[in-house]
Amino acid sequence: MASEKALNAPPGECRQCWLHAYDSRAQHKHLAPREDCPACVSHMGGKCPTSMIVPGKRKGWW
Ligand SMILES: [Zn+2]
Ligand SMILES: [Zn+2]
Repeated sequence: MASEKALNAPPGECRQCWLHAYDSRAQHKHLAPREDCPACVSHMGGKCPTSMIVPGKRKGWW
């Protein structure tokens, strides 16, 4: 079961990438060892669709 943190990406973060990062074990358990996660690969390099980014103001990290 994904933790509450995993399911609640903060503003400015990609929901999918956040979930896969914080609930990695569960999100990737269907993959073979060392198999790439298609969802993660498709977002790799900052290619997250805008529709998956949590709206709201990013807390100024930079
Ligand atoms: Zn993934
Ligand atoms: Zn993403």
